[in-house]
Amino acid sequence: MSLHEFPFSLLRTHLSALMSQQAVYFDNAATTSLDPEVLEAMMPFLQNHFGNPSSIHGHGRQVRAAIENARKTIAHLINAAPAEISFTSGGTEADNYAAFGSIRTLGLRHAITSPLEHHAVLHTLQALEKSGDIQLSYVRHDERGRLDMVHLDELLATQPRSFVSLMHANNEIGNINDVQAIADLCLQHDAIFHTDTVQTIGHYRHDVQQLKAHFLVGSAHKFHGPKGVGFLYTRSGTQVTPLIHGGAQERNVRAGTENVYGIVGLAKAMEIAYRDMANHQRHIQGLKDLFITALRAEIEDVQFNGTSAEADQSLYTVLNVSLPPSDINEMLLFNLDINRVSVSGGSACSSGANAGSHVLSALNCDPSRGAIRFSMSKYNTAEEVKFAVEQLAKMYRKVPA
Ligand code: PLP
Repeated sequence: MSLHEFPFSLLRTHLSALMSQQAVYFDNAATTSLDPEVLEAMMPFLQNHFGNPSSIHGHGRQVRAAIENARKTIAHLINAAPAEISFTSGGTEADNYAAFGSIRTLGLRHAITSPLEHHAVLHTLQALEKSGDIQLSYVRHDERGRLDMVHLDELLATQPRSFVSLMHANNEIGNINDVQAIADLCLQHDAIFHTDTVQTIGHYRHDVQQLKAHFLVGSAHKFHGPKGVGFLYTRSGTQVTPLIHGGAQERNVRAGTENVYGIVGLAKAMEIAYRDMANHQRHIQGLKDLFITALRAEIEDVQFNGTSAEADQSLYTVLNVSLPPSDINEMLLFNLDINRVSVSGGSACSSGANAGSHVLSALNCDPSRGAIRFSMSKYNTAEEVKFAVEQLAKMYRKVPA
């Protein structure tokens, strides 16, 4: 067939039909879609209430009131005082504030973390190590990512007063750490405890009167709020120095005109998350259970990374699947994408363009196996789970001899 005989119009029709079919979205640990109720709450601040919250006139005061109400809402939900909540541009900035702010203010010389932390924590502490501010130690963990609490105790006992940063739940493998036990150990050793709660705020209840952490972190886009806004909880009496200098916003700690509609959206998203939490947890855990059952039924030698498949030890929103060694693993995400399934992945290998996952590498996962993370939200359905498993099974199903 010559080029001018090629049925371009047919191809165009086929492609546009393909593109008009929405892909199913299972990448909710990366980000979630905005809840329409949240958008509705934000709209007046995008359209009409435009005043600068630092202005003393009516336009400013109206907006200031919205920010302070948002602060009260969030504080109330985690059982904190409003003054303990500072708004940030998201989880990464809040993690940076906790680490830089407290290590430098308190003159701490040692920090403890784990190789499984998000880069928002790891790279921040490594930067402080490189600048000579601290010496950094890593808590040991087993091949499933469970932290060695005896080693943590040893590090706390033998090192100078430490800044400890250990996440509540891992964004890649979904492992939940026993933050209550970590907080208790830190208290015993007079350490400063920061826990990256980005994957659990809005999905689990937190009570800072019970969990004696010094810092907690939230990010709105992980629970159907807007992107680019989050908060840092700082226990009363814990000092932090500003990272961003300028005006007196956020009690002189974080200068710059506030992201007003973002803050309003953050508080609304959190309110909704708490209101509907039990139902959503039940619904999403059901989807995760269905994923596990269907994957085991359809794909031989399917495994699960970390403690991902154990309901009591992992996020109900995350399932990290380990797929059998195969030539198609290199193209796994691409193949799923063209079959209209959006997920994240990352093998344990760490060479060249395929940077791999630092978490799976730390767990010594077999680099010849494929890895994908399904992360679910309240908007996913059982049909979508079945569809995604079907697409995956097509790639791995054994061809009968
Ligand atoms: N910490 C964890 C555990 C995360 O999963 C993320 C985002 O993926 C972050 C921190 C960074 O949050 P943000 O995207 O709000 O900067």
